[in-house]
Amino acid sequence: MALAIDLALQDMKTIVVERHETIQQVPKGQNLTARTGEHFRRWGVTDAIRAASPIPRSYGSGGVATYGNYLSDYHYEWFNRARIVDYYAATNERLPQYRTEEVLRTRAAETGKITLMRGWSFQSLEQHDHGVAVDITMTQGDDTQTISAPFLVGCDGARSPVREAAGITQTVDPHDRLMALLVFNSRQLDERLAIYGDKAIFNAISPDMNGYWQFLGRVDLEGNWFFHAPVPPGTTRENFNFQQLLNNAVGAEIDVDFSYVGFWDLRLSLADTYRQGHVFIAGDAAHSHPPYGGYGINTGFEDARNLAWKLAACHSGWGGERLLDSYTAERHPVFASTRDDFIVKSILEDRDFVDSYHPERDLTAFETAWNQRASGDDSLVTQYLPHYQGSPIICGETGAVSGATGRHEFAARAGHHLAPRPLPDEQDLWNMLGPGFTLLDLTGNTDFQQRFDAATKPRGIPLKILDLAGAGLLETYGADAILVRPDNFIAWAGSTDDCDAVAIIDKAIGT
Ligand SMILES: Cc1cc2nc3c(=O)[nH]c(=O)nc-3n(C[C@H](O)[C@H](O)[C@H](O)COP(=O)(O)OP(=O)(O)OC[C@H]3O[C@@H](n4cnc5c(N)ncnc54)[C@H](O)[C@@H]3O)c2cc1C
Repeated sequence: MALAIDLALQDMKTIVVERHETIQQVPKGQNLTARTGEHFRRWGVTDAIRAASPIPRSYGSGGVATYGNYLSDYHYEWFNRARIVDYYAATNERLPQYRTEEVLRTRAAETGKITLMRGWSFQSLEQHDHGVAVDITMTQGDDTQTISAPFLVGCDGARSPVREAAGITQTVDPHDRLMALLVFNSRQLDERLAIYGDKAIFNAISPDMNGYWQFLGRVDLEGNWFFHAPVPPGTTRENFNFQQLLNNAVGAEIDVDFSYVGFWDLRLSLADTYRQGHVFIAGDAAHSHPPYGGYGINTGFEDARNLAWKLAACHSGWGGERLLDSYTAERHPVFASTRDDFIVKSILEDRDFVDSYHPERDLTAFETAWNQRASGDDSLVTQYLPHYQGSPIICGETGAVSGATGRHEFAARAGHHLAPRPLPDEQDLWNMLGPGFTLLDLTGNTDFQQRFDAATKPRGIPLKILDLAGAGLLETYGADAILVRPDNFIAWAGSTDDCDAVAIIDKAIGT
């Protein structure tokens, strides 16, 4: 839905084929980053998202890590995404994916450019010179249809039939773990965990878990929760005591009313390419992983932002021949780094910690190591900074590599997200950005502006020029001028004196 909305805002029509009639009510995808908040601004759903959230904003900013169980004496504040909120033009949010989906569907309907076909399933595809023909069938029935379009994007989840049909292979890191997901109501759990105040997520690091998470998340303030943890191979709904599993994780007996018990195999998968001809994949279809760190839906939304303007550019005729391939070139290394530098790293570090320290073996050594974790364990949030420094369509440093690690700062760096700064008279820079490219001229150099105008206008490349001389941004951003892409990433930053506008634009549009 996100991709369809972004495309609609760029005047493209889409058909969304969804096999289910109704939205699945599993409370996943809740931990939404401030960057996702910027997407919501772009899509015009910020207020609707806030209104749909069952949790006050104060709960959206963090959780608690504990040792052994959730009521342990060893605990510290953990995963506070509000720490980096100043670097974004929006805040983080927390709401179940089914609520987000409802908001996006409402918005999609408003655009008048999106046809949602509920209850229809993708079956097969055939690529031809100018696009792709897709066969779909009714999920509960025999009717079939063929849809032809210039592009097909498989946003069809980790098992992605579109990925399979396009022959896109993936690299899988199997962890050979069966995971259980429990959704339940427990007012007693609300009462027990009230000791931590406004906290939404809890991770009990346990010697029994070998580095895997026992993760508890609030759905609302009405006693609804979800929990996931590894369970022994062969576990089914019938042969396992889930009440006991929860009691152990909490460290106390609690009354529990289960509404959902599900399972999945813990593995990390990354498609080897995100494009095959006219077919693309995005979201979990391109990359899937255990829900450690709330990277999943956020990464999928960023895929959508990255891909939408490129599809629109090529459809309108101004996108260069390398633009569509840059989708894989930019997004693939970001997920590879998210996997290696955040998700797998956190499993290995927790494993190393529980192997090395145990309060019953050596209490002093354990407490020293625990206190060290407590004082510095925010890297999952503060160092998570997806960027495209090594992208072929970014005018950056030679030899730079794209990835997901970095340090948040305001300086304008090619390949990085533009961090917002306040403007005089309470103007909001984010509201001033154009739907296409935006050139921020911080020096007021009209000759420079005209060169960019001449490099774009005759070719139909959408460029908005903002003359921000005197806005006090020169020192903060550390550049005379900044070319911002439609997805708010910086294509180029530098001096207005001696730059070649045509060369910069050519590179930015993949010519
Ligand atoms: C317990 C849990 C907690 C999570 N928490 C977070 C979190 O806090 N933050 C976060 O960012 N991520 C989280 N995630 C991950 C997040 O939910 C996923 O990354 C996200 O759902 C991926 O979205 P998607 O649209 O790519 O795929 P999906 O949500 O899987 O959607 C794919 C869609 O394709 C449809 N489909 C599949 N096959 C066909 C077909 N043949 N024809 C038509 N339609 C089809 C499906 O019905 C489905 O609607 C969590 C996941 C779990 C399980």
